[in-house]
Amino acid sequence: MDSPTRQLRRSRASLPNLLLPGLMVLLGACATPARTTPNHKPQPDQINTHPLPPWYGLTGWGRLDQIEGWMKSSGPVKNPAWVNQARLALADGLLNVDPGAGDHLQSRRSRALDLYSAVLSTPEATEQEKTHATYGRRRASGNRVPRSPANTMLSNVLPRSDWSARPVQPSKLTPATGPWKWITVHHSALSASDGTAQAQAARDVRTVQNGHMEEARGYGDVGYHFLIDAGGRVWQGRELRWQGAHAGGSNNEGNIGICLLGNFDKVRPTQAALSALGRLVSDLHRVAGVPFDRVKGHKHWKSTNCPGRYLEDHVARLR
Ligand SMILES: [Zn+2]
Repeated sequence: MDSPTRQLRRSRASLPNLLLPGLMVLLGACATPARTTPNHKPQPDQINTHPLPPWYGLTGWGRLDQIEGWMKSSGPVKNPAWVNQARLALADGLLNVDPGAGDHLQSRRSRALDLYSAVLSTPEATEQEKTHATYGRRRASGNRVPRSPANTMLSNVLPRSDWSARPVQPSKLTPATGPWKWITVHHSALSASDGTAQAQAARDVRTVQNGHMEEARGYGDVGYHFLIDAGGRVWQGRELRWQGAHAGGSNNEGNIGICLLGNFDKVRPTQAALSALGRLVSDLHRVAGVPFDRVKGHKHWKSTNCPGRYLEDHVARLR
């Protein structure tokens, strides 16, 4: 087993999209405590009318560099609603470097502390951002805090490394440009895995990706941005920096794809999966500005059974 330091160094060199996001998410303990109620109200309102910043949806070191650059440029002036999110993501990133590495640990911690404190002293900070910053300050001060799989932008999304994602083939992918306008819900229509075991769900996600990347289809990655299992876990699919491949041709533009694992022509989705879908849609409404009335089933775009007769009604209720 490699030391975390060596793993990090290697991830910087060759696996930036695999390892680091996992670490960042796992170590992002402060990020978001478990929420009990979906956050339906956009806060602050500007988030819905401002475009996503260029670093949104990126992972790894590239993301931190982008955020640094954005903070120093006119980003915060043009898009002030994202300043606190940028501070939090940057501070988390500074803390998530292996604490045993010793290199500049104190200066990284004190910079992170400053960033978290800046969030707390901003009157416009949301409750969620303040909670995140409060936990962050405790971590930056060297206190251990409980870890949870959360990231700064969306609650409880499991990273690609957790399902051993194949690397993407960027030449076959289209960068996402323009605002997100739609959310489309699908089912995998593979045999519904009974039970809710995480390891099985991870294999199911990988199976979906394999199907999309096999020669016949030839996608550069799994086509959906998020996948949800019967246990209510949300898995990161294709990163939001890329356009999805799930609604057909130009319908994919500005269209976030969410796939529930299972065949919902045959079985009913679990309550846990439906709750997770509701939370994810709320989060995407908040951070990506997709209106609730633009949440559709795959059927909306073409003649298909997807997302299955038992899931359709639930999708309609999300609107
Ligand atoms: Zn579909």
